[in-house]
Amino acid sequence: MFDGRVDADLVERSLAASTFGSMWLDILRPDYPPLTGPVTCDLLVVGGGYTGLWTALHAIERNPGARVVLIEANRIGWAASGRNGGFVDASLTHGAENGKARWPKEFDTLSAMGVENLDGMQADIDRLGLNTDWQRNGMLLVATEPHQVDWLRDAAAEDGGRFLDTHQVQAEVNSPTYLAGLYSADTCAIVHPARLAFELARACQDAGVQIYEHTNATRLDSSGSTLRVDTGAAIVTARHAVLATNVYPSLLRRNRLRTVPVYDYVLSTDPLTDVQLDRIGWRSRQGIGDCANQFHYYRLTMDNRIVWGGYDAVYHFGRRVDAGYEDRPSTYRLLATHFFITFPQLDDIRFSHRWAGAIDTNTRFCAHWGLARDGRVAYVNGFTGLGVGAARFAADVCLDLLDGAPTPRTELQMVRERPLPFPPEPLASVGIQATRWSLDRADHSAGRRNIFLRTLDALGLGFDS
Ligand SMILES: Cc1cc2nc3c(=O)[nH]c(=O)nc-3n(C[C@H](O)[C@H](O)[C@H](O)COP(=O)(O)OP(=O)(O)OC[C@H]3O[C@@H](n4cnc5c(N)ncnc54)[C@H](O)[C@@H]3O)c2cc1C
Repeated sequence: MFDGRVDADLVERSLAASTFGSMWLDILRPDYPPLTGPVTCDLLVVGGGYTGLWTALHAIERNPGARVVLIEANRIGWAASGRNGGFVDASLTHGAENGKARWPKEFDTLSAMGVENLDGMQADIDRLGLNTDWQRNGMLLVATEPHQVDWLRDAAAEDGGRFLDTHQVQAEVNSPTYLAGLYSADTCAIVHPARLAFELARACQDAGVQIYEHTNATRLDSSGSTLRVDTGAAIVTARHAVLATNVYPSLLRRNRLRTVPVYDYVLSTDPLTDVQLDRIGWRSRQGIGDCANQFHYYRLTMDNRIVWGGYDAVYHFGRRVDAGYEDRPSTYRLLATHFFITFPQLDDIRFSHRWAGAIDTNTRFCAHWGLARDGRVAYVNGFTGLGVGAARFAADVCLDLLDGAPTPRTELQMVRERPLPFPPEPLASVGIQATRWSLDRADHSAGRRNIFLRTLDALGLGFDS
């Protein structure tokens, strides 16, 4: 479907005035000071994205009066948490299919915990009065290839949701590429990603968390019952620590091969006029995704821009996180082309922003946890492309693990198991490129997976975004 042709001039024109950088971060944000002198605390949180912020907030709510310090190498929410699509999905397993295949016995529990987490997040946002543009409008999965229609029909029968035929789905959102849809009303919200991070930071500070920006943890040592974290300018002495550093090099060497950075690219349009919006409908303002292996995700903002991302998940040899990978003209052209194939009636639309971010991908496509240094350090990594909702659950798991007493969360097989690491280079690169190539082939041959993908499936290994 996305092989269709679009006038190259239209694509160039549409991107010509776009600004490079996350549209979400184009708002006023609070400043926090750098750490300049030694500090002692009960809990040190390293990383100021959603995971670190939820950890700090819930830690101080569990233990009012505890000294909780959060340090962020750059700015709060500047990384994945300020660049994502803002889809807050209930899934903790990067979708039902992945969860069922890996943890069939506990999948129902994982699903229930995922919905509980989404409801809990909504309740936290309401309780704390966080201004995040939260909209619980549900998720519309669309089929754009004939073989995907039956997938959606089967998913509706197995996992719930309302199957929509071609006429019904196009009545919701008018794209000629849609062949069918699956609408799930309760399991997804959309949010302003950067506001969520900034508002969580405000709530943390209100609750007594000390936040320091421009404070990079370079080394973690332990002696006796204390941890020492070096930030260059100061030493933090802590009883416990949570490492919420996502795709960035872990302070624990053992974690370095567990994930790889995969670049995900996004465009945002100018706000649609009422006339432009009328051409496509989308009155229910659901989040939308297509169900290819290489998928697009898109949603409306409060001021009616379309944020349009996905498809071209790129891994670069050497596993580096590097801002130089972000401005990738060929990918933005591809995304714009697919946009106009999806919405040909919006050929007068221009893109205002283009940006990218690194996704923390592991071989099981969803978060994994662990403890280090005699149980005094907890870590979580590997959200792959679905961490906005899962980060809150992950934070609770980290705090449970540090507390030490078993909880329904820490008893989960998903939490107790670690994924297999990726191999070192050059094998990682060869394997990931072969997987991407095979996934693309599967998307173009009625979803049929080749022997390479079937072998990875059998081993429980893979690559996703
Ligand atoms: C383009 C894009 C689109 C996405 N879309 C979605 C989506 O729609 N829905 C969804 O569920 N997920 C999505 N994701 C994934 C989601 O954004 C992430 O899973 C989530 O934001 C992870 O939050 P985090 O706090 O773990 O990581 P981050 O937001 O990356 O925060 C980690 C922080 O740790 C800091 N840090 C690292 N090392 C150190 C150190 N040594 N010392 C101090 N600080 C350190 C970093 O500076 C960074 O700020 C998307 C991701 C990207 C990149």
